[in-house]
This record gives sequence, structure tokens and C-alpha cells, in this order.
Amino acid sequence: MTREEYANILLPNVKYTYEEYEKMYPERNLKEGAIVSRYAPSPTGFVHIGALLTTFINYKMARQTDGVFYLRVEDTDQKRSIDDGINKIIEDLAKFDIEFNEGVTKEGDKGNYGPYTQSERKDIYWAFAKKLIAEDKAYPCFCSEEDNATSHEMQVQNKERTGYYGKWAKCRNLSMEEVINKINNGEKYIIRLKSDGDFNKKFTFKDLIKGKVEFPENDEDFVIIKSDGLPTYHFAHAVDDHLMRTTHVIRGEEWYSSIPKHTQLFKLLGFKIPKYAHISPLMIEDNGVRRKISKRKDPEAAVSFYHEKGIPNKAIMLYLETVANSNFEMWLEQNKDKDVNEFVLDFKRMSTGGTMFDYDKLINISKNYISRLKASEVYDLALEHARTYNKEFAKLLEKYREYSINVFNIEREQKKPRKDLAYFSDTENQIWYMYEELFNDVTYDWQNITDKKEIELILNTYINEYYDINDDKQIWFDKMKEMSEKIGYAGNMKDYKENPQNYKGSIADVSMVIRVALTSKSMTPDLYEIMKLLGTENIKKRVEKALQV
Ligand code: GLU
Repeated sequence: MTREEYANILLPNVKYTYEEYEKMYPERNLKEGAIVSRYAPSPTGFVHIGALLTTFINYKMARQTDGVFYLRVEDTDQKRSIDDGINKIIEDLAKFDIEFNEGVTKEGDKGNYGPYTQSERKDIYWAFAKKLIAEDKAYPCFCSEEDNATSHEMQVQNKERTGYYGKWAKCRNLSMEEVINKINNGEKYIIRLKSDGDFNKKFTFKDLIKGKVEFPENDEDFVIIKSDGLPTYHFAHAVDDHLMRTTHVIRGEEWYSSIPKHTQLFKLLGFKIPKYAHISPLMIEDNGVRRKISKRKDPEAAVSFYHEKGIPNKAIMLYLETVANSNFEMWLEQNKDKDVNEFVLDFKRMSTGGTMFDYDKLINISKNYISRLKASEVYDLALEHARTYNKEFAKLLEKYREYSINVFNIEREQKKPRKDLAYFSDTENQIWYMYEELFNDVTYDWQNITDKKEIELILNTYINEYYDINDDKQIWFDKMKEMSEKIGYAGNMKDYKENPQNYKGSIADVSMVIRVALTSKSMTPDLYEIMKLLGTENIKKRVEKALQV
């Protein structure tokens, strides 16, 4: 029996040979330096903020080099897959303007290097596993889980390295005849790599982010094809990234320690090793201890958390770009008018340790981002958020579209715009008082004005003698001044500070009373603009209401 025949018995019914697959997926014809990268999630339906960072870096690296960025679904661990999981991921990423040139889409595969879903690539993996078996670089293993558990226990007892290697690799030296006999007896098997590594030898590896590092060679005969016939992550990674002609494997740091296995696999398969970049995880401080953001423990690990909070996706991307390259912030400061896509990401500027996840900074970026938007854009985002998370409020925003845009425009489209809105779950809280429907059981924040008579005096005098919707800002202000003086308040702060004993208070107190009567709040954006929008009828109604309490 030749080794080819033997390989055929172990992995039967493979449609194409590995040579044929090599031809089917030729080298890509791209310009020098073009990066082919990918996002390769399991279809869990969940996008982790760290995964979003990694995806963004992959996307941007391909884009800035006129390369290719594709989506591959890694569903070989069926336990991690959920129905519709990949569509949820696609939808989430689209919100961040992350687009794929190729790969799995909601409408099926796009591109010439598919199928892009691993469970549909079994034949391909088997073709390459057959090659390894035929070359005596892989073998079937019949060890049961119990056998492996026993070995593990003994290794622990003897204080030896755990794993399936060297003398512990029991099936490594089975002859072809022994194997065939076992198969004829109906024994189940998996396929392991026949490692040619020596754990006591070191090799140098260069990571694009972490630089040069020495690793021990891998001597473990790790599994490449599992009992369900599907490949392990390691094997699928090598076969897929080779055949999809990935130039750069940019992935989470959790895979860094697998480098000895992966580079060995590429070599034994006869593949060119791609470039690797391992992204440091996002960290948080938990009771004084730094640890990775965790899907289980931290709500902020899920991208959906930010959607719910109403942080604009673009703001999240700006934050992630500052995490990716710390010089981005400075660049942005110096290139305010440029498109952020012009900023060039550089692996050399990426963090080699963990990066602290700075929520306050994200909020700050979000606040600045929103402040620079047009009122109509703020309206659109606020409405989109409210439609999902605050339906009643969304109805008001829809009913009073123009009015709401004007509300958002108070102190907005100007050189130094107001920065009170940092995320859209706070919208109602910020502007509710501008809507009659919500101005019901209000609590007035009269501050230091405790004398009800004074409140009445101020409001009555203002409404009856001074208020006119047609006043421009200057007249409006002059009238405030004039009225203050008329009823015993200083018309400007300077006078008041010099001789406080001469006055009941100052113009600030007078306008505060009007502000509180009209909005219930002692702090609001520009009162003149608020009054313009509220209009005469509502203003009169609100003054009356305030006088009743
Ligand atoms: N499926 C792997 C994961 O979700 C992909 C890692 C990689 O990018 O190679 O972690």
C-alpha cells in the first residue's frame, strides 16, 4: 500500500487534490504592498469591543494599501455558533462603516476565494490533511479522551510538560497495518500533526507589532482534524489563510502563543508564512487590578452596550483609532478639515502591552463629535436611537421635526458649539422641557430666590410690561436690564458687586427666575433662543403655571 492509498482510506471521498485547490485559488494580482486581511469571527452574534478594534485595523490596513479585506466565518466549533449569528455581526459592523470587499455577505458569498464559511470547506481541509498523511507529516490517533486524561494526570504527577508529544504521543508510531486493523475494528480516530519540532530549540519570530521574539519550537502532535471531520482552528487558519492568499494575519493577542504551532504548520504544508500582527487587548482596572475587558464580566465589552447608550458609531471609531495609533489624536487636531481616512495607520505605533480602555475619553470624543454635527444630523441620530430605546420620545421627535431640529440647533452650528450631549440616551433628559407634552409635573429649581412675592413680581412685570416675541437679542437683553433696575435689582454684575446692599439682587437673579419659570431648570442653554422657540403662547402658559406653585 502506498502512502497515498493509505491517506485515501483515512480521508476518503475527497473531490480534489491539494494541487487542484492550489490552482483554483491562485496568487492575487495586486499591486506591491497591498495588504490582504480578514475578519474571521465565530458566528456568535456578538461583537466584542476588542474584536471591533481588531476588525477596524484589518479593514483600514487593507484599505490604505488598496488591498482586500474579507469576511470569513469560523464555525468549526459548532458549540459557539448561534442561528443568524453571522448576520448579526455583519449588521453590527455595517453600522461602523466597516465594509468587506469579499467574503460572506447576507446575500451569500462574494469573491473568488470561497467558500468563506469553514463548515463548507471540509473537502479542502481533507485534501491538505491527505497531503500531510501521504508525506508522513500527520497521522490518525485513536486515543480516547480517557487515555488523554490519564496521560495528563501522569504528566502532572511527574511534573512534566502536559500534552500529546514525544513518548506521550502513543499513536505516532503505529504502522499503516496497525492503523488499518484498528479502522477495520471500527475504532474512531482523529488526525494529528506529526511534529518535527524540538521543544528545547528556539526560533526567532517577527511580529509586526511586538517585534522580534524567541519561541520554543512546537513538539506537540496537535489535532488538525477533529472527530466530527472538521478542522481545528490551527489547521483551518493555515489552509484558509494560504488559499485565500491572506498577506497579513492581524488578530487578537490570545493567538500569539500559538505561533510555534502555526508557523510549523505553514512550513510542513509547504506554504509561505504570512505576516502576523497581534493586537494587544483592551484592559480595564477592576479593584486596582488590570485585566482584559471580559464579555462575561463587563457590559462595556459588547458593542451593543454603546448602541444602547447612544454613542455615535463614528465616535467609537474615532476612539478606536486613537487606541490603535496614539498619534491619531494629534493628527486629527492638526487636520480638522481632512477626512479621517487620510490618516495612515502604522503597525509600529501600536501598543505592545495592553491598552487601558478609557471610557471617559470615549465619552469626551463622543461629546466633541456630536458638538460638531449639524442640528439636522443630531436630530437624525437622536431619532434613530429613540426609535429603538425610547419610543415615546421618538414620537415627539417625529411629530415636531422642524421644531426639534431648531431645539438641537440652540448654540450649535457656531464656532464654539455647546457640548452638553455626549450620548443619545441622554437626549430626553437634556431637552424634555422644550416639549409641552412633557412639561407636566415639574419641580422648579428656584435656587436662592425663596421669596414667592419676588418671583411673582419678576414674572408679572416681565410678562405684562416687557416680553415681546419680536424682540431681537439685544433688545431682549436691554429690556432684562431695564426691568431689573426698575424692580430693585442691579442691571449689571459690576454694580451689584460694588454695592450689594443697594439691591435685592442682580440681573442674574431676574433672568434665573424667568429661566426657571419657563424650563423649571436653573441651568439651560441660551434663554433667548429657548424663548424664541417656545413662543408666546407657551411662554404665557408656563409663566401662569409657575405662578400657581
Ligand atoms: N475565529 C478566531 C476568533 O474568533 C479568529 C482568529 C483569527 O483572526 O485568526 O478568535
